[in-house]
Amino acid sequence: MIRCDALIVGGGPAGLAAAIALRQKGVDVVIAEALSPPIDKACGEGLMPDSHEALEKLGVALGPEDGHCFEGIAFIAPPLCAVAPFRGRPGLGIRRLRLHSRLVDRCRELGVRFHWGSGVAVRRGEPVLVQSESCRYRYLIGADGQFSRVRAWSGLERGKVLSKRFGARRHFRVEPWSRMVEVHWGDCGQAYVTPIGPEEVCIATVSRSPSARMDGVLAGLPELRRRIEGMPAVSALRGAATTTRRLCRVATGNVALVGDASASVDAITGEGLALGFRQALLLAEAVEAGALDLYSADHPSIVRLPQAMSRLLLCLDRWPSFRHRALSVLAQEPETFPRMLSMHLAQESMSKFMLRNGTQLAWRLFTVAPRSTAY
Ligand SMILES: Cc1cc2nc3c(=O)[nH]c(=O)nc-3n(C[C@H](O)[C@H](O)[C@H](O)COP(=O)(O)OP(=O)(O)OC[C@H]3O[C@@H](n4cnc5c(N)ncnc54)[C@H](O)[C@@H]3O)c2cc1C
Repeated sequence: MIRCDALIVGGGPAGLAAAIALRQKGVDVVIAEALSPPIDKACGEGLMPDSHEALEKLGVALGPEDGHCFEGIAFIAPPLCAVAPFRGRPGLGIRRLRLHSRLVDRCRELGVRFHWGSGVAVRRGEPVLVQSESCRYRYLIGADGQFSRVRAWSGLERGKVLSKRFGARRHFRVEPWSRMVEVHWGDCGQAYVTPIGPEEVCIATVSRSPSARMDGVLAGLPELRRRIEGMPAVSALRGAATTTRRLCRVATGNVALVGDASASVDAITGEGLALGFRQALLLAEAVEAGALDLYSADHPSIVRLPQAMSRLLLCLDRWPSFRHRALSVLAQEPETFPRMLSMHLAQESMSKFMLRNGTQLAWRLFTVAPRSTAY
């Protein structure tokens, strides 16, 4: 029998972050993960600047040697191009495999126990089994991703799926041509280009259509296609769904959910990983206080802003004419996009931003004469 204080189901970024945060509080942790490390996943592989603070609290200091820094975000829908540099620290493009290895190393340093290649059977009305082995734990943490079985098993499924889209990613050997993460907007979806190394970029595409796939999205983005034409692909194509999900509760009894299992945001926000790291820290505080209710109560304060931004950005995806107008405003008013990015990263409050700029922005959206800017 496996005995521990906390059994974490799922050893993705959120599960590993939760293990680190709990170990830092002296909790005896076991992670059971169906796959073996390092674990890859379809992802844009961009860590936004607001991830650093949480990662540092977890004792994981990532630097340029782990990937490639990027200095802001560019929205591109030729001929329109709007650029927002970050205020303060840069973001980091990092291969998923590298991120996973760095988190696993930190877990090992702290004495987290692992059961790799161990699918956890979570069946309604039955006890949890790790590879048919029974388990005695004080807390069960579901970090088993968007389609969490722990969520269903523990009765925490009640909530809303606000959006569902389909993503894919692939790496190309090419020198990054921009110091920004580029988000290319097309009618079939978006492609994000994240610099990952001096000679490598990660391209992730996301579309509402399950049949669009990466080629379908890139077909509507000729400028980006030209950039990567003839460049060797250096990884296999991987796909994954991306959702915006809100739950009524993320903890019940001695069970809690973290990461995508607990709440997710569309990939376009670039906030999925940072959210998981922050939730992990919050969960550890609640476990230390012996009150998972605190976690459930404070969880919405972490996800509210990214989910609001997710909905806003998805309006640009859904309505091409709105997108065209919005990008025209952002391209013509170089102050607005950086301030919106600061709001996205919680460096500026959303209500203050809307109070100061909301009316003027709405007016500009209706009156803007779409003009091109050089891409
Ligand atoms: C196309 C795309 C692009 C994205 N781009 C970005 C980006 O640029 N930046 C960003 O921050 N976020 C991005 N995201 C979101 C980010 O990938 C997720 O938020 C993140 O992976 C969530 O981590 P997690 O640990 O909660 O879940 P996962 O990474 O899904 O990990 C869950 C783990 O649980 C394991 N598991 C599941 N069931 C069981 C079981 N029964 N027993 C044992 N193990 C189990 C799985 O094997 C898996 O390893 C993107 C997502 C997509 C789809």
